[in-house]
Amino acid sequence: MTAQDWISTGHLPSPEVVQELVAEAHRRFQPVTEGRVADYIPALAAAPPERFGLCVAGCGGPLFEAGESRVPFSIQSLSKPFMFALICQAIGEEEARDKLGVNSTGLPFNSVLAVERSGEGLSNPMVNAGAIAATSLAPGASLARKWAFIQDGFSRFAGRPLEIDRPVYDSEAATNRRNVGIATLLSDHQRLWWDPEEATDLYTRQCALSVTAADLAVMAATLANGGRQPVTGEQVIDPSHCQHVLAVMVTAGLYETSGDWLYATGLPGKSGVSGGLITVAPGKGGLATYSPPLDEAGNSVRGQLTARFLSARLGLNLFASTPDAVR
Ligand code: GLU
Repeated sequence: MTAQDWISTGHLPSPEVVQELVAEAHRRFQPVTEGRVADYIPALAAAPPERFGLCVAGCGGPLFEAGESRVPFSIQSLSKPFMFALICQAIGEEEARDKLGVNSTGLPFNSVLAVERSGEGLSNPMVNAGAIAATSLAPGASLARKWAFIQDGFSRFAGRPLEIDRPVYDSEAATNRRNVGIATLLSDHQRLWWDPEEATDLYTRQCALSVTAADLAVMAATLANGGRQPVTGEQVIDPSHCQHVLAVMVTAGLYETSGDWLYATGLPGKSGVSGGLITVAPGKGGLATYSPPLDEAGNSVRGQLTARFLSARLGLNLFASTPDAVR
């Protein structure tokens, strides 16, 4: 028996069923008007609140889309799991854990206190401190080399060259002093592996990469598929890293309401301030939604409703079981 025989996952329902449920999710949740579009990064405030697209990518490659699944937006915090994945691949998952931490902080994503409180400057790669530290570990002896590593790695996840959304980058670069502060504090704790200003700049570029829900679904499906990109067939990261990335997503993927999320969907997810949300169903596929209005915790309202609906109707919840047949 090989380790593969012990993987406890199944398959998505038939393509017709998945497409119909994706269309139904779009019809159901388009009329929802709750939530507020984020404005702390000025360029994000202009996003139309009615925008809504979703895409499911199966591990076998097919895409199922509805609504504005090809509208570009900046990846923001959804970059964090992929950056962590690239760092696990570069330095190994044990070293990545030792250097960054993997426990939830129980504090806001951009907390400075999170760095101070652990005593060692450890947080986890799904909040800004751990994410900026992860970015600082990108291989390369110059800013340009490090950026090439990051942009190339993200593009391999997406299966196409990804570019920076310039207005979003400029807007965040002009207002990201808190992140520079976090990076400086990390550096003080010997928890940053590059210059704080440059590490923050790399992180800001990474957050400004422009993607669509279709891109993100395929990226999420790569994490669901043992690190192999389902469309290009490229092995982007080793299978063993995927489960660790997903574990960290479970711990802290949806800000302070990660517990509520897990309770509702039973799946690893990650949300971002621009309105994106990814959900990973190991062995089955990835779901991505784009809808800018956010709840109080900073998670897309329509995105969460969609993930909850599809997790139940596509049979994705990792914790669900039925009783074994009576012996
Ligand atoms: N670039 C944003 C920041 O660091 C990402 C925030 C987010 O999506 O949570 O503030």
